[in-house]
Amino acid sequence: QMFGKVKTCNSAAAPYRSPSDCNLVLLGVMGSGKSALTVKFLTKRFISEYDPHLEDIFSSEEIVDQQPVTVRVMDTCDKEGPVNSERYLSWANGFLVVYSIDKRESFEGCQLYLQTLALHNKTFKPHTPILLLGNKLDLDRYRQVSRCDAEALATRFGCLFFEVSACLDFLSVQHVFYEAVRRVRRR
Ligand code: GDP
Ligand code: MG
Repeated sequence: QMFGKVKTCNSAAAPYRSPSDCNLVLLGVMGSGKSALTVKFLTKRFISEYDPHLEDIFSSEEIVDQQPVTVRVMDTCDKEGPVNSERYLSWANGFLVVYSIDKRESFEGCQLYLQTLALHNKTFKPHTPILLLGNKLDLDRYRQVSRCDAEALATRFGCLFFEVSACLDFLSVQHVFYEAVRRVRRR
């Protein structure tokens, strides 16, 4: 198994959440880098070719602010936007909605996810944290989405906003996942 300390979970069924659990779901159109970010967070490595049709849940024991937490990451793969979203909506404690800063369509694609989450949060789970992530910051020279547009979208949906790169430094990717954990703890 490629992820040393990381376990693959078979089931998304988790009716009870202990305060030291944190279930995070990565959403976004294909190619935005959800799998690359997941693998980077879990292994510190950038894997450039990852099966684009793989959807899985990974689990990792982390220490965030001196406190242990079991972080479970669901790396989703939707062929066409937010369909069949029940599989993650009730499971999640927090969402990371990913686009690629060099692909305008991936940013447009985010909005459908954000709308779905906003509706769900309003009805069922108020205050479930959502982070908007502009990935592929290393491709800044091909940027098609300004920070300003992304900040405006994040503000509209009450999200935190970060730009990251799955192929640059590990710590900034870890920081984003840890921020998600902190938000989940705070809610
Ligand atoms: P997913 O469909 O959202 O899971 O996207 P993947 O993680 O499979 O990534 C899609 C493609 O983008 C792959 O070719 C990755 O190597 C590439 N990729 C992912 N993250 C980055 C990044 O931060 N920078 C660059 N330059 N390429 C990336
Ligand atoms: Mg993927």
